[in-house]
Amino acid sequence: MESKPRFLVVGAGFSGAVLARSLVEKIDCRVTIVEERPHLAGNCHTERDPATGVMIHKYGPHIFNTSQQHVWEYVNRFGVFRPWVNRVKAVTPRGVFSLPINLHTINQFFGKTFNPAQARAFMDSLGDKSIGEPRNFEEQALKFIGRELYETFFYGYTRKQWGCEPRELSASILKRLPVRFNYDDNYYNSTWQGIPEQGYTAVVEKIVDHPAIELQLDTPFDPQTQRTHLFFTGPLDAYFGFRLGRLGYRTVTFERGEAEGDFQGNAVLNYGDPEVPFTRIHEHKHFTPWEEHARTTYFREYSKETGPGDVAYYPKRLEPDKVLLRKYRDLGSQERGVSFLGRLATYRYMDMEKVIGEALAFGEAFAESFQAGAQNLPIFPNQE
Ligand code: UDP
Repeated sequence: MESKPRFLVVGAGFSGAVLARSLVEKIDCRVTIVEERPHLAGNCHTERDPATGVMIHKYGPHIFNTSQQHVWEYVNRFGVFRPWVNRVKAVTPRGVFSLPINLHTINQFFGKTFNPAQARAFMDSLGDKSIGEPRNFEEQALKFIGRELYETFFYGYTRKQWGCEPRELSASILKRLPVRFNYDDNYYNSTWQGIPEQGYTAVVEKIVDHPAIELQLDTPFDPQTQRTHLFFTGPLDAYFGFRLGRLGYRTVTFERGEAEGDFQGNAVLNYGDPEVPFTRIHEHKHFTPWEEHARTTYFREYSKETGPGDVAYYPKRLEPDKVLLRKYRDLGSQERGVSFLGRLATYRYMDMEKVIGEALAFGEAFAESFQAGAQNLPIFPNQE
């Protein structure tokens, strides 16, 4: 009889895939991954649009960017990443502007010809001085960019995206976006940025391509499955059958369009205007400029509250969510033989690189404790 440990991983997104790979590379074991969807890669899933041949990001745009060298090296083991820089434009009633806010945005928006130092002083004069440490998204915006830019670029977009007042949201959401006093219009500050040549699903396929990993798609988690240890990367509240209530998520829906040639001239255009019902339009052929396609497909993105059966996207983390999360985490900490990992199981707004970095670190920490025969195996990743 085989005596190797048998690990069960629930979910075949980046968390589950990277963790599974890490386990089989560190422990002499077998890993089964069960995934309820018919495909790998979770919300990063890419596939070819049958009508146009364009590689589409089925659950919305994913641009890989990281400043963690080991994460960049890791993903490059499993696919060719082509250099690609995200340059987002914002369409507003006052015109089209460059995002994130940079010197070009400031000069065009205010009809100025500032140099970096002048722009910095000007922006400083716009900021709300009465705000000390910003307590929420709105205060973060008003303190650093003032009301006019906030209302044009962020207020309407954020209301549509999150379905609540920006003052109910964490300042950390806005801190994702830089403000720059030069003409650098790269949406990210990361050292490395790119798009996998063959899409994200091909990368995840390679990650799980290992003789000790068995993958079962279209397979819901069966709690009765025999295993040495379970790694759950689905929603934390779902694991507990929503017995204390549901954690709030926003979900997005897409309205597909198709056209000849080039529809909007860029991968992503954001719409901050509250009168426009969608948040952004993404045209996916621009994510693969090395490919040629006569026709194009684009998606208008709408945001709404997640109901039962909807795909969970963005964790809202409003105050009641945080209270509920603490209760679920307490329940989780009392479980034995299970660990929780990833965006859904830890209920955090996480980029791909963060998910991968955390799964690698967790795999290492787990393997060490497991091989040392420790009683208390890690349950949740270390979080800031
Ligand atoms: N945001 C905004 N206007 C924009 C772009 C972003 O108000 O044009 C806000 C919005 O609240 C969003 C957050 O900034 O949720 C973070 O934006 P990011 O582009 O990182 O969101 P993602 O691409 O992850 O949806």
